[in-house]
Amino acid sequence: MKDVENNEMDVIKIAAREMLKGSKMLGEHCKVCGFPLFEDTRGNKYCVYCEVVKKKEEKERNNITDINKEDKKDTVPPYSKDTGIKILERKIDYLFKKLDEEYDIARIMEITDAIKALLKLKSKLE
Ligand SMILES: [Zn+2]
Repeated sequence: MKDVENNEMDVIKIAAREMLKGSKMLGEHCKVCGFPLFEDTRGNKYCVYCEVVKKKEEKERNNITDINKEDKKDTVPPYSKDTGIKILERKIDYLFKKLDEEYDIARIMEITDAIKALLKLKSKLE
């Protein structure tokens, strides 16, 4: 149901945009999708909806190629050393706050162990 609503919204948006470009909405409908056909200022009939779908598919295909390209690169690590340290510092900070609120001995031990592990990791990065 939600998809249908979204499609209707798209149709209205697309139609409004075409009219702004100076195109006319025709009484005819696209044989492929049933969307009203438009005529541009040069008199060319076209189906906006099919064109949008085509462009979207092309974009998706390009995105896939981009992902493939990135796979081949694999030179840049996801996190730089500095970012890693910052993340660890944030987590240590968070754990200390938790520790302050915690009164359950088992949990305190757990948090302390986690802090120790993070500090050790941090010292390795520095
Ligand atoms: Zn169409």
